[in-house]
Amino acid sequence: MRTTSPFLSKSKYLSGLQCHKLLWFQYNAKDQIPAFDAQTQAIFDQGNLVGELARKLYPNGIEIAGVANDFGKILGLSKEVLSHRRPLFEAAFKSGNAFARADILNPVGRNEWEIVEVKSSTQVKEVNLHDLALQRYAYEGAGLAISRCCILHIDNEYVRKGEIDPKKLFKKVDVTEQVASLIKSVGPNLRTMAGVIAQKRYPEVEIGPHCSDPYGCPLTELCWKFLPEDNPLTLYYFKKEKAFDLIHQGQLDIWKLPASIELSDKQQIQVEALRTDKTYVDKNGIREFLGQLEYPLYYLDFETFGTAIPLYDDVSPYQQIPFQYSLHIVDAEGKKPKHESFLADGAKDPRPEILRTLKNSLGQKGSIVAYNASFEKDKLKKAVEVYEQYIDGYSKIENRFVDLLVPFKAFSYYNPNQHGSTSMKAVLPALTGKSYEGLEIKEGGTASLEYLRVTFGKVTEKERQKVRKQLEEYCAMDTEGMVDIVEELQRLLAPIGAILI
Ligand code: SF4
Repeated sequence: MRTTSPFLSKSKYLSGLQCHKLLWFQYNAKDQIPAFDAQTQAIFDQGNLVGELARKLYPNGIEIAGVANDFGKILGLSKEVLSHRRPLFEAAFKSGNAFARADILNPVGRNEWEIVEVKSSTQVKEVNLHDLALQRYAYEGAGLAISRCCILHIDNEYVRKGEIDPKKLFKKVDVTEQVASLIKSVGPNLRTMAGVIAQKRYPEVEIGPHCSDPYGCPLTELCWKFLPEDNPLTLYYFKKEKAFDLIHQGQLDIWKLPASIELSDKQQIQVEALRTDKTYVDKNGIREFLGQLEYPLYYLDFETFGTAIPLYDDVSPYQQIPFQYSLHIVDAEGKKPKHESFLADGAKDPRPEILRTLKNSLGQKGSIVAYNASFEKDKLKKAVEVYEQYIDGYSKIENRFVDLLVPFKAFSYYNPNQHGSTSMKAVLPALTGKSYEGLEIKEGGTASLEYLRVTFGKVTEKERQKVRKQLEEYCAMDTEGMVDIVEELQRLLAPIGAILI
C-alpha cells in the first residue's frame, strides 16, 4: 500500500473521473494495462503535430524541457522562467497532489496568466473543462494569478489554401466561467482519488457507458471478458443504457431474454435466429434488391484518410480524402469479374487521378455497387466540387449507385454469426465463409494509417512496397467480397416467402 499521496496529472485526473478502477490500475498494476494500439498512438501523434502548430501563435515562447518524470527538475525550471513574462510551453506547477503542465501558459497584463489548452478536436468537450479545472487548481495553488482559461481547438470550417495558417486553423474559445464552476470539485475529487490509489485492491466498478466515454478504456478486455458473444450490447440498434441495465440485472445472453423485454422486429429476428441457430431469409426483400441491379456491375470501394491538419489545398480538417480504390467489374450474371485498382503514390492530392481513372473505368451504364454507398458518393461529390472538370461525369454516374448494405440493414438476410452487425466485416464471413483473417491489413483504419506511414513517413523502399501490396490485397478483398455476397444472394433466391434455413 502507498504511504505517500502520488501526483495526479491531468490525464490521471481525467482517468479518475472516468473510472476509479482504471485509476487504481494506472498506479498499482500498470503492467496489466495493454499498450496503446496503433490507432490510439496515431491520435496522440496527430495531437503532437497540432500542438507544435499552435505554438506558432505564441512566438517567443519558452519550452520547459525536462524528463517527464523528473518532477523536481521541471518544477524548478518552470519557476525560474516565470519572471521572463513570455509564453511558456508545458510549464509545470503543483499544489498538493495536483500536478499541471498546460500546453501554453500565456502572460496577461503585469502579472496574470492565461491557460491555453490545445485540442485536436473540432469543439470544446466537457472533459476539456475538467482538464482545465485541474490545471487552474494546480497553478493557483502554486501562487500564479490565472485570469483566463481557453481551449484552442481545430476550426472545422477552415479550408487550406497554400501554407497552413495557424491563425485560421485554430479557434480560441474562452471557457473561464465553465472552468470556475468546476474548480470547487477538484480538491474533493483529488482526495477521493488519492484514497482509491492507496487501496490494497482495485475498487469494484460495474461496466457501463463510462467504459468508452470520454475515452475508450484500455481495460475493456479485462473487465468485459465475462460477457458472452451475443450479449445485450450486440442487440441491433438497442440503446446502450438499456443494454447495460440488462447486463447489470444478470441478463447476459440475448437468446435467454424474457418475453417482457420489448424488442423491435429486427431485434426479434436476431434473437430468434440465435435461438433456432437458423438464418433468416426474406426472399422477397432480396429479390427486390437484386432487381435493381443492371449489368455490367461495377463493385467499387474507397479507402480514405482524414488528418487534423489538411495535407492539400481545398481540404478541411478531418475531411476524408480517398487515396485508393478497388473495382471489380462483372459483365453479366455468372461471368468472372475483372479487377482494376488505384493506389495513390507520392505526396500530391490523389483526387484528380482517382476522378480521371474512374471516369474511364465506370463506363456509360450498369450499376455501381458499394457497401454503404453514401460514403463513396460523398467522396466523389466533394472531389468534383474542387475539380470541377469532372462534375458532368459525376452527375452521370450518381444515380447508378446501388447500396449493398440495404438488404442487410433491412434484415432481408440475417445470419446469427453476424452477432447483430450489418457491417461488411460481419456479413461477408457469415454469408460466404470468407474473411479478412489471412490479410495483414484487416480494416480501413489500419489501411489509412499504413498508407500515411509509408507515403509521408521515413520508411525503406522495401517496406513501402510491402505495405502497398498489403493495401492492394485489403481493398481488393472488399470488392471481391461484394461480388461474393451478391452471388450468394442470387443463389438464395427461391420462389416466395421468408424462411429460416
Ligand atoms: S473497462 Fe470500464 S469498468 Fe473497467 S476499468 Fe475501464 S472504465 Fe472501468
